[in-house]
Amino acid sequence: MNDPAPVAVYIGLGSNLQNPKWQVESALAELAQLPETRMVSHSSLYRSRPVGPQDQDDFINAVAHLTTRLAADSLLDALQRLEQQHHRVRERRWGPRSLDLDLLLYGDRKIDTPRLTVPHPEIAKRSFVLLPLHEIAPADLMIPGLGLVQTLLNGIERSDIEQLA
Ligand code: AMP
Repeated sequence: MNDPAPVAVYIGLGSNLQNPKWQVESALAELAQLPETRMVSHSSLYRSRPVGPQDQDDFINAVAHLTTRLAADSLLDALQRLEQQHHRVRERRWGPRSLDLDLLLYGDRKIDTPRLTVPHPEIAKRSFVLLPLHEIAPADLMIPGLGLVQTLLNGIERSDIEQLA
């Protein structure tokens, strides 16, 4: 059987524990090494205030654009293995974590299974996803069911985030 055609995917990265810049930068390098996968580009790093409990450090965030021949659930397996390799610590919902990897977009597909919702449900609400996504995505990138990234960005609060040099 022929290999499946590569699919454009976007991954959201976030960390606020154990040297967050290092966590995100090394995870970007690891994403580029995944099997059947190529890194197209990644955003700058951003610093954002945590959502939920405020008694935790700021997050470092980025978004990566990859192409992959991995099926969506295999890609999620790979992301979860990377999180484990970063000794992911997660004590409570919305709490601090050493590395969080979210599958934001998998081509133009909508996926709704017990372990995977794509587009990621938080995509339209979060500046720490939309700003880095807008930095690297084509201007006409449509988020299935939600619309253009630029349009979504117009509706969100940006005071809680800064782009790092
Ligand atoms: P969290 O670590 O809080 O982002 O949540 C991880 C859980 O979300 C895992 O059990 C995943 O199976 C589930 N999940 C559902 N959709 C996604 C997605 N698009 N990307 C990453 N995890 C997802």
